Amino acid sequence: SEKLAESREAGKTTFSFEFFPPKTAQGVQNLYDRMDRMHGLGPSFIDVTWGAGGRNSQLTTEMVNVAQSVYGLETCMHLTCTDMEQSKLDEALADAYKAGCTNILALRGDPPREKEKWEAVQGGFRYARDLVKYIKQKYGNHFDIGVAGYSEGCDDNEDIDELIDHLKEKVDAGGTFIVTQMFYDVDIFIEWMKKVRAKGITVPIIPGIMPIQTHAAFLRRANWSRCVIPEHWTKVLEPVKNDDAEVRRIGTGLLAEMCRRLIEAGVSHLHFYTMNLAQATQMVLEELKLIPDVGEKPLPWRQSLGLNRRD
Ligand code: FAD
Repeated sequence: SEKLAESREAGKTTFSFEFFPPKTAQGVQNLYDRMDRMHGLGPSFIDVTWGAGGRNSQLTTEMVNVAQSVYGLETCMHLTCTDMEQSKLDEALADAYKAGCTNILALRGDPPREKEKWEAVQGGFRYARDLVKYIKQKYGNHFDIGVAGYSEGCDDNEDIDELIDHLKEKVDAGGTFIVTQMFYDVDIFIEWMKKVRAKGITVPIIPGIMPIQTHAAFLRRANWSRCVIPEHWTKVLEPVKNDDAEVRRIGTGLLAEMCRRLIEAGVSHLHFYTMNLAQATQMVLEELKLIPDVGEKPLPWRQSLGLNRRD
């Protein structure tokens, strides 16, 4: 969060990429190759998600370790606190600590696949706030702790004001940055940011950006997160929906425009839900001219010496 504040003050826009643990060994290898290549695009950090209920948790911690130690990428590990034993939480935090990871996105968690509703287990973890407190208590200031924000409501709560009250509780418990659920309507988002600030929440707000890969995936993800699709987006995307390349091209323009408006509204960091794919995210970054020149690329040896791009 200190680095985020620095780039905000310097008027720089930075970005990060989110990845999830693939299902197969081949998928894992492909993703490592992609992570390595996407490193060259210059993200400030990458996120690795946590399977609800701790599913595939070893893979999440392994990916964090590899990203940190092999690819020299700063990572943020997601961690949920419901539907799994507290020992798993402790293990995950210890593994992240050992890997040199200093960022955790603390979440309550979705219900695991086989269940409809999430469940609290031992240790008194009901909400993300409880996990934030626990990490603080165990690790002091070692981890920068991110929390989730929802500009258009979340699965079990559509009351925006109540969600902001709960967001404030998470920040007051020790959350140092907010990453939001995906959205496409910037007006709604900007209004939400104003409300968040009016509540006295001052930590950086990082919008979650979902690039458009195909029309079917765009609709599926928007419906899944129940976010509003602006009318003019439908107007331009619907007629080309069967032409993937055209959908990506138009989608890139829409996403870039959305990011520009966010930057104008004071956002200094963009978080991309890559869905483990590079192309659509890279196209948006290129359109925004945020990819460093070759001479400026953050090379691993520079990072290992603790030098940043400008040194
Ligand atoms: P919380 O902040 O705990 O809120 C959950 C609900 O409880 C809300 O309705 C809230 O209003 C309510 N609530 C909170 N505090 C109180 C209180 N004191 N009293 C009464 N009600 C309260 N899920 C995964 O499983 N793995 C991931 O890696 C993952 N990554 C995510 C990344 C981002 C950026 C986002 C936005 C979500 C992610 N999720 C992930 C999904 C997340 O786990 C779900 O959205 C979950 O349903 C809510 O998690 P939360 O941390 O926002 O919960």
